[in-house]
Amino acid sequence: MSLLFWRKSALPTFSRGGVHPDEHKELTENLPIEDFIPTNVYLPVSQSLGPSAEPLVAKATKVKRGDVIARVPGGVSLHAPVSGIVKGVATGPHASLVYDTVITIQTKPGDDDPQFPEQPGWQALPVAQMLESIRDAGVVGLGGAAFPTYRKLALPKGAKVDTLVINGSECEPYLTCDYRLMLEESEKVVLGSWLIAKIIGVANCVIGVEDNKQPAAEKMRQTIAGLGLEKMEPPVKMTVVVTQTRYPQGSEKQLVQSLTGRLVPKGGLPLAVGVVVQNVATAIACLDAIRNAKPVMERVLTVSGRGIQSPRNLRVPIGTSVEDIVAHCGGYTNDLVKILLGGPMMGRTIADLDVSVTKGTSGLLFLTAAETSITRYQPCISCGECVDACPMGLEPNRVSQYMEVGRPLETEQFGVKECFECGCCSYSCPSHRPLVQFMQVAKAAYRRQERKTK
Ligand code: SF4
Ligand code: SF4
Repeated sequence: MSLLFWRKSALPTFSRGGVHPDEHKELTENLPIEDFIPTNVYLPVSQSLGPSAEPLVAKATKVKRGDVIARVPGGVSLHAPVSGIVKGVATGPHASLVYDTVITIQTKPGDDDPQFPEQPGWQALPVAQMLESIRDAGVVGLGGAAFPTYRKLALPKGAKVDTLVINGSECEPYLTCDYRLMLEESEKVVLGSWLIAKIIGVANCVIGVEDNKQPAAEKMRQTIAGLGLEKMEPPVKMTVVVTQTRYPQGSEKQLVQSLTGRLVPKGGLPLAVGVVVQNVATAIACLDAIRNAKPVMERVLTVSGRGIQSPRNLRVPIGTSVEDIVAHCGGYTNDLVKILLGGPMMGRTIADLDVSVTKGTSGLLFLTAAETSITRYQPCISCGECVDACPMGLEPNRVSQYMEVGRPLETEQFGVKECFECGCCSYSCPSHRPLVQFMQVAKAAYRRQERKTK
């Protein structure tokens, strides 16, 4: 599909860069969410940005679904996603950290497992108590960022915010889990968004949905109309805005510009222009935490690509292994060449099937040679495509040239610290240069330098 496709649409969008990769959503968009509970779960204790949680259980501890099994001191908790017996606490694989402390639980459901019924008076709880519930439920950004949600919603003193943006863009190719949530659990998305609006004290909420998900936009509009949010206390005006289908529409700065016309300043957060952004799955998790005192124990993810026999949208306990998901989905096809955790633009390649689903895992892709590039990369031909595609106006071509001669700490001049690793540059490069990887390595070099000088 043409990279210039998006320029012809009149729908709202961001002003700079972006690409339109083939969508591949047809593989799973019409498949309802299915539940899958494996025999064992493997829970890395690092499930959110920031310090790791400390395990609170040991081998042979009996746990009930929802028990706290690890906690970041003063921060978010990790809960048992299933009832059962702890089989071990040991070093094991982690999707992005390589290794972590992993708690293994053998699933043994019981008749007295907690059911998390609705708490009376949940709508009228004080804001401070709602924030505590979100923290204690271990809610983090489920769109992939895994930033602790209570910290994002506890606004700094003096912050002036007037708009909540709910991100239903799901702009990564293949992924359809947020789309299915908007279709199947629209009431929970809307009520969760209303609670978040109440917590941050705004009366205006805009839900952004790309125009390749029109049924979800329509369903959300119907649900909003049916719930009568203007008459609730506090009243919230909730609007669904359909944006152009254009990657990375779902990244915070781009979405804020598309929906409000406001430009988030360089190095700043949406808060700087009066906006807080949350993802649709995170809105549901906030509702579960406040209304039902239900922690984050499971998540919906898309299992897709032409390298898996039976693509699906699955709801799985956190800690479900890739190996168990592969077996549940009928195994690989013969032409599988790559497995990714996340979408094809921002996901990570994994080589180890022991890796398990964390709170931030939105997809698991099995790609064939026809679906992914495994071509050896070539020298830069100075075509400028990557610069045109970068939504932040950076110079990934120059960064890559400096990286190739071992000068990572001279790349700040080309904007490396502003890079949010969307992958538009790599996607658009005719020489197949791993531009986003060069950016990642350069950023890591700066982080190391900052740690040394502290
Ligand atoms: S990965 Fe970074 S450099 Fe590349 S397009 Fe995205 S923001 Fe720009
Ligand atoms: S797109 Fe690739 S070849 Fe073109 S300028 Fe960028 S790095 Fe060089």
